[in-house]
Amino acid sequence: MVVGEFTTEVDLLIIGGGPGGYVAAIRAAQLGKKVTLVERDKLGGVCLNVGCIPSKALIAAAHRYEDAKKLGEIGIEAGDVRVDFAKVQTWKQGVVDKLTGGVASLMKANKVEVIKGEALFANDREARVINGYEANRYRFNQCIIATGSRPIELKDLPFGGRVISSTEALALQEIPKRLLVIGGGYIGIELGTVFAKFGTQVTVLEGTESILPTFEKEVLRLVERRLKKLNVTVVTSAMAKGVEETANGVTVTASVKGEEQRYEADYVLVTVGRRPNTEDLGLDMAGVRTEKGLIQVDKQGRTSVGHIFAIGDVVPGPALAHKASYEGKVAAEAAAGEASEVDYRVIPAVVFSDPEIAVVGLSESEAKEKGLDVVTGRFPFAANGRALSLADAEGFVKLVADKSSGELLGAQIVGPEASDLIAEAALAIEMGATLEDVALTIHAHPTLGEVMMEAAEVGLGRPVHIAPR
Ligand SMILES: Cc1cc2nc3c(=O)[nH]c(=O)nc-3n(C[C@H](O)[C@H](O)[C@H](O)COP(=O)(O)OP(=O)(O)OC[C@H]3O[C@@H](n4cnc5c(N)ncnc54)[C@H](O)[C@@H]3O)c2cc1C
Repeated sequence: MVVGEFTTEVDLLIIGGGPGGYVAAIRAAQLGKKVTLVERDKLGGVCLNVGCIPSKALIAAAHRYEDAKKLGEIGIEAGDVRVDFAKVQTWKQGVVDKLTGGVASLMKANKVEVIKGEALFANDREARVINGYEANRYRFNQCIIATGSRPIELKDLPFGGRVISSTEALALQEIPKRLLVIGGGYIGIELGTVFAKFGTQVTVLEGTESILPTFEKEVLRLVERRLKKLNVTVVTSAMAKGVEETANGVTVTASVKGEEQRYEADYVLVTVGRRPNTEDLGLDMAGVRTEKGLIQVDKQGRTSVGHIFAIGDVVPGPALAHKASYEGKVAAEAAAGEASEVDYRVIPAVVFSDPEIAVVGLSESEAKEKGLDVVTGRFPFAANGRALSLADAEGFVKLVADKSSGELLGAQIVGPEASDLIAEAALAIEMGATLEDVALTIHAHPTLGEVMMEAAEVGLGRPVHIAPR
């Protein structure tokens, strides 16, 4: 039974409190909007609760564990290094709680009203918010949809029991002996690597011919080599067909290059992609158009209904937190009457694999496909003093620039701290910098960042710390 239905007038209603929604809320509040944010679950969304942050915390813990075991190589005897996985999980949750608590404080500080409940549109000016037995109506002037996405479920391997999604994998209380990962995208590879480092026997089944298929071969090679060292078995051209629960595990059948194979594991982690949360929102009641489940928007994030915006994983483009937050700012500014528009030329993408991969802009092959004449500059971490002194010198930076103007078009990094180093390349592309601008910038010594400068010098044909070609 629904009790206590009443209608509240609000100015800007934001549905969803993930990196899209909460950032849009802050920016809109800064611009003088009166903001009401509805969240059915936890502030911070997927990224803070069951995505970016907990996965990176577990990756860091696994990395330190692996590093500690190798300390002997640099002359430090650490004795018997053991993992208390329950404690790792408690620590990880502490990190998540701190950050989600931080978002709640920011909402208060910016006077954003946060309402708990599930929103769905009644029409293009009203949403109902259902919370248990309560269903209240909110009449809004403007609205931003930021409801995010959820894991795709395979029909033949439905979630439940030992068939888990990334959410359950991040919350496992024990280190499994055997883990089967279906899907070699970044989420599968990141989580597979975590458990492999903690001692799990990991097998990855990937449907296409390569894991992480969007990255260039030379970048992938190092990650594939490290996976092999961690005893991760990667099976490509493999399609999972079905699953059977056994007394203490699961057996998955898969077709591998036309032959049926069976794989036994404690858990099957299905990471085959994510689906936008757009079905149960009453979008048709509001007249908001979708295509293949994604909400169609213009450069300001406006949907087919001018005063309703959409951002993040529910709109086309890469499903990444920083893209969601960026679109959140643009939509909030547009809602406040500013002339902001999205420009997608610079969206870095990072895989927190081992070693890390980070890319921004165009790769060499993408630039060539576009018919551009390019010059590249590639510099290895093995020739960088800082990387060697960190005992972490595998990988390289490759810069791609327009041949005639020297303007930077893209960067690929595989190696230590690639996730942080990519920011310089992103800024350089955003500023329209040339290889010369990067090469002329004095980089502190000894730092990993020097590899960017040296790669630019390679591109200019005058490398200092490697022999000329
Ligand atoms: C394991 C994993 C690791 C990841 N790692 C990274 C990473 O390292 N870097 C990166 O950039 N991205 C990463 N991502 C992706 C990132 O989490 C998403 O791109 C990002 O969270 C999208 O933000 P969003 O605001 O669009 O939606 P979400 O974060 O999905 O938030 C949507 C929110 O809306 C709420 N909601 C949904 N429907 C309703 C409704 N009807 N009413 C009220 N509330 C509703 C949900 O409860 C949720 O809190 C990762 C994802 C996963 C799963």
